[in-house]
Amino acid sequence: MKSHSQVVVIGGGVVGCSVLYHLTSLGWKDVVLCERKDLTAGSSWHAAGAIHALNADAAMARLQAYTVGLYRELELVSGQNVGLHYPGGLNVAATKERLDLLRGEVARHRTLGLNTSLVGPQEIRELCPIMDTTGVLGAIWDPMEGHLDPAGATYAFATAARRGGAEIYRHTRVLELRGTGKGSWLVVTNQGDIEAEHVVNAGGLWAREVGHMVGVELPLVPMEHHYLITEDLPELARATRELPVVVDLDGEMYMRQERRGVLLGVYETPATPWAIGGTCWDYGETELLPPDLERLTEALEKGFARFPALHAAGIRRVVNGPFTFTPDGNPLVGPVPGVPNYWAACGVMAGFCQGGGVGLALATWITRGEPDGDVLSLDVARFGSYATKAYVLEKAAEFYSRRFRIAYPNEYWPAGRPSKTSALHGRLTARRAIHGVSYGLEYPLYFAPSTEPAEERPSLRRSNAFGPVGAECRAARTTAGVLDASSFSRFEFSGPAAEDALDRILAGKLPEVGRARLTPMLARSGRLMGDLTTVRVADDRFLLFGSGYLQDWHLRWFREHLPPAGVTVRNLSDNWGGIALFGPKSREALARVTSEDVGPGAFPFMCARMMEVGLAPALVMRLSVTGELGFEVHAPQIYLGSIYDRLMEVSADLGLADVGMYALLALRIEKGFGIWSREFSSDYTAAESGLARFVAYDKPAFVGRDAALRQREAPPQRRLVLLEVEDADADARFYEPVWAGEEQVGFVTSAAYGHTCGRSLAMGYLASHAAREDNPLELTVLGERHACRVLDEPPVDPHGARMRA
Ligand SMILES: Cc1cc2nc3c(=O)[nH]c(=O)nc-3n(C[C@H](O)[C@H](O)[C@H](O)COP(=O)(O)OP(=O)(O)OC[C@H]3O[C@@H](n4cnc5c(N)ncnc54)[C@H](O)[C@@H]3O)c2cc1C
Repeated sequence: MKSHSQVVVIGGGVVGCSVLYHLTSLGWKDVVLCERKDLTAGSSWHAAGAIHALNADAAMARLQAYTVGLYRELELVSGQNVGLHYPGGLNVAATKERLDLLRGEVARHRTLGLNTSLVGPQEIRELCPIMDTTGVLGAIWDPMEGHLDPAGATYAFATAARRGGAEIYRHTRVLELRGTGKGSWLVVTNQGDIEAEHVVNAGGLWAREVGHMVGVELPLVPMEHHYLITEDLPELARATRELPVVVDLDGEMYMRQERRGVLLGVYETPATPWAIGGTCWDYGETELLPPDLERLTEALEKGFARFPALHAAGIRRVVNGPFTFTPDGNPLVGPVPGVPNYWAACGVMAGFCQGGGVGLALATWITRGEPDGDVLSLDVARFGSYATKAYVLEKAAEFYSRRFRIAYPNEYWPAGRPSKTSALHGRLTARRAIHGVSYGLEYPLYFAPSTEPAEERPSLRRSNAFGPVGAECRAARTTAGVLDASSFSRFEFSGPAAEDALDRILAGKLPEVGRARLTPMLARSGRLMGDLTTVRVADDRFLLFGSGYLQDWHLRWFREHLPPAGVTVRNLSDNWGGIALFGPKSREALARVTSEDVGPGAFPFMCARMMEVGLAPALVMRLSVTGELGFEVHAPQIYLGSIYDRLMEVSADLGLADVGMYALLALRIEKGFGIWSREFSSDYTAAESGLARFVAYDKPAFVGRDAALRQREAPPQRRLVLLEVEDADADARFYEPVWAGEEQVGFVTSAAYGHTCGRSLAMGYLASHAAREDNPLELTVLGERHACRVLDEPPVDPHGARMRA
């Protein structure tokens, strides 16, 4: 056994072996893996082995497509057969809504590089003759779906890694991780100790325990899962082609051929969490859990109805095994915040669909210092302290039971709610606010009129929120709107080195005292890392505002780039809240609750000042996401209620209206303002996204400067545009393709109906050559093409006169 290694991967399941292989393929040879028993001794050996790329989350779909496509190459590199079958796969819809969803998904797949198509019941019967297609309306056909031998695939990764120079120590259990004080780890095992520069937690069912070794509670929990394998079916005895893998989305089951029988797996309700308090070290290798078919009766009945041949078939084997789930079902990957050189590669609920991509993402991150593009939806830092064990249990169980349900874009699932509420939550609920949730925090989406039920109906099209949101938008453009903006993140940087540190971390110019600035943040590759608003409160004190759900992601980044002394960073996000006030009468409303002069001369655009608002000390900024004259009032949560009450009390005659996040998002799109995770993310550079105008290229040093300068020299291949869409009765969502004839020239990043201009609008990235106003384009909404055109200027207040008024 080596005494020193660049990386020790803990866990020899499919994920750990894939991480090890990808480290070697990216050139790191001095890497080892410790497995407490034999490889596959966790969840990996008893998986059903189905592989598919389809996932409603775009980043996950890309990652899965990479994984599914990797196995042929893996067979070549390892010389090992992985039992690969690609009979193709059907994702079946039995409701009109589901079919609409699938139609939309097929269009999005173009953008994601997946080659899928929609097929009807007749084709489904031809592809899968044992299916009863009663009620089936259509399906997505994906030729790249299939199945493999789980142990074969895990061993193939291991063999390929060994060929690349890695070492694997079996029957080597990691007992303890001790920091050496030099940034490395002493990995203490039952076979001896290894000093490692980096440690990867790929502990699967034991990832929580491997987290405890460094004092972290990773947000995952195992769930029991059953599948059964039938005896041979006479219907398949003489079949000349293998059945496709079938996922019956409305029946919540999956089926594939296993020799001349079938394998049927179900996601039943309610889910059954396993080993909630921790996984016993003795479990695994050959053990399974006792089957409980009674619990599955309802789910199995649906399965047998869809595949009637199963009624007559004997059951050869029932498998009940545990595997891990996170609150949103996505893996936990990346540097664990607060624990340098300790990386997560766990919480992977579909290791054979996702393990390859997880391995590539993590190995790229370790060897090159950053992942290749936006991986936020699998980043371990997307969860914060709100993800308590109780929360994780509720959400993960909910995800399991809803694994195949339609995830409507306007739906917020109920488990784990409410957890965090702002001081305004009760008041706004009483005023009929419909809340969504982000990072555990409830925030208002819109306000239901008293004539309607206080509930938004899930829909792929415009929902019952459309009318009320329109009214909120009109109020914001004609009188004034008020919004609970507590869901923003707020960081305070203070100390003698704060200015120098921020000047290096942020790519934008720092503001003067009493001013605010939009300051992009870049990775070394020049990709975007943030679109923060920076306020300088004093020479040595700054407040930074961003998206609330990025708190831990940004904190991790700040900590990685801070000097060793001279700066204190505090995360104020949970303790502070905010109220956004916008619209032509917003200044008058603010003036009524403060004695300060907030007139245009004394308080110009991008001004920021501490002042009393009502009875409260608050930071007031003059800026605008809506494009209107606007202000943000930020204060400790304990004051938020009194600020809101005073505002509403004294401004009733001004027509001040409660506004939710839906209206804000529609208002900002009328101005062509981008937001994080849509127009801005680590997939894009400053030059592509239009944020280059906020980058201070003349600063002598900042993170990402060299790359940003290079990117500025070559004109970007694509650029962010605002589009107007014709005749749409639904709005695009995300990643729908934009066409010039039959050529896909771009994709949508977000869309909304512009209630002021009366048009459906979308934003997206287009190939630079196609991004011209006179270019006739089309955009796919729910599978149907609509004419659209680039708008060279926003349809509302194109020169920004209102927000600068
Ligand atoms: C019934 C069932 C059906 C499934 N079907 C599919 C499917 O069809 N398709 C699909 O993609 N996925 C499927 N899965 C999920 C899949 O099995 C898992 O996603 C995958 O196995 C997770 O792999 P892993 O490497 O993260 O974890 P694991 O396989 O649990 O591996 C973790 C490894 O770490 C080792 N380890 C832990 N702690 C230590 C330590 N301290 N020291 C040394 N070693 C340690 C363990 O011994 C273990 O071998 C299924 C799962 C089940 C239970």
